[in-house]
Amino acid sequence: MNKILTIESSYEEAEKNSKKLVKNSGFKNQKILVKPNLLCPTPPEAVATTHPSIVKGVVEYLIDKGCDVYLGDSSAGQDSLNVLLKKTKIKNALKKLDVTFVEVDKYPAIELQLQGFIKDQTMPISKIVNEVDGIISLPKYKVHMLTGFTGATKNFYGLAPRLVKKEFHAKYINPAKFSTMIVDLALSIMKKVPTFYVMDSIWGMEGEGPKGGTKKEINMLIAGKNPFQVDNFAIGMVNPKFKVFTNEIAQKLGLIQKYEVIGPKKKIKLKMSKGYKAVRLASIFPNFGILASLVGIPKVGSLCTGCQTCIKNCPVNAIHMENGKAVIDRKKCIKCFTCVEVCPVNAIKVRKRLI
Ligand code: SF4
Ligand code: SF4
Repeated sequence: MNKILTIESSYEEAEKNSKKLVKNSGFKNQKILVKPNLLCPTPPEAVATTHPSIVKGVVEYLIDKGCDVYLGDSSAGQDSLNVLLKKTKIKNALKKLDVTFVEVDKYPAIELQLQGFIKDQTMPISKIVNEVDGIISLPKYKVHMLTGFTGATKNFYGLAPRLVKKEFHAKYINPAKFSTMIVDLALSIMKKVPTFYVMDSIWGMEGEGPKGGTKKEINMLIAGKNPFQVDNFAIGMVNPKFKVFTNEIAQKLGLIQKYEVIGPKKKIKLKMSKGYKAVRLASIFPNFGILASLVGIPKVGSLCTGCQTCIKNCPVNAIHMENGKAVIDRKKCIKCFTCVEVCPVNAIKVRKRLI
C-alpha cells in the first residue's frame, strides 16, 4: 500500500524536514528534475510559490546522494526563469549548489501522448522529462479559482511552455474538462518517469488562489509517490470536505486507492474561491462557454497600471486597452482566470454573479 508521509513543520525547520521526507523517493546517482511551483515572481511571504527552504533541502539531499540535479518551471505570465528564481529567493537559497536550470519556454519540447480520459490528445511538454531518471515535484497548497485546488496534480502544467498553456486553456474551456486534461497530464508523466512529491503546506493559500488569495497557516509538509493521493490527503484535511475537480476525476479513474498515512493528521478550515464556486456550478452545463458569461466575472480595478501582461496571456484575446487601462470583453471571456493569475499588481478580481 502507498504511504502518505506528513511532518508538522515551520519554515525554520523546513530544510531539515524536507530532507527527511525526500529520502523516501529512493533516488540516488540519477539525473533528477526538481519542479517547484513558480507561478509568479513574488517573494516567499506572498505564499504563491514553493518556499526556498524546501527547494534547498531537497536539492541538497539529492546532491548528497550523487544525483545530477535539474530545476525547471514556467510562470503563468511572461517572466523568465531567472526572474522567478530571483524574486522567489530560490536562486539565493541554491547559490552554492550545483544545479542546472531548465527554462521551459526555451527548452525543446516533446509531444506527450495524454493517457486517462481524453483520447487522441498530445501535449507539447519540456523534453527534460525524457532526459531525466526521476522527477521531484514540490507543489504548493493553494485553493484555485478554476480547478478548486492547485497541488501535486496540477504542478506538472508548468512543464508545458507558456504558449501551449494558453492554447490548452482555450481548447478546454469547461473547467471540468480542463481538470480532466490536468489529471491525464500527471498520469502520463507518472507513466513515463518515477515521481515523488513534497507539498509545501506550511503556509497555504485560501480564497481567490492561486495568486490573489489570502495566507493560511497549516504548518505541514505532505509527501508521497502518487500525486492524486497527496492531493486527496491534502484536500481531506479541509472540514467540511470540499469538492475538487481533479480529485474527483482521479477517483473516477481509480487513481486514488487506499493509502496509509504516516505522521500527524489535522483538520483545517479553508475559505473557498468565489470564482471556483461559480465556475463549478456552471460547468455542469455542456455549453459552459455561453453560461460562463453569467458566472464569476473577472473585473479590472483601479490598481491597473496598463502593463498589458493580462492582454499578452489571455488565451482568447478578450482584453484590450482603453485610456491606459485593461478592459475585459465579457462576451469573449471564457473564465480561465489566467489574467487574475498574471496581473503583477492584483488589479483583477473575480466578481461573483451566479451561485
Ligand atoms: S490589469 Fe493588471 S496585468 Fe492587466 S494591464 Fe492592468 S496591471 Fe497589467
Ligand atoms: S479575460 Fe481573463 S478570464 Fe477571461 S479569457 Fe481572458 S484571461 Fe481568461
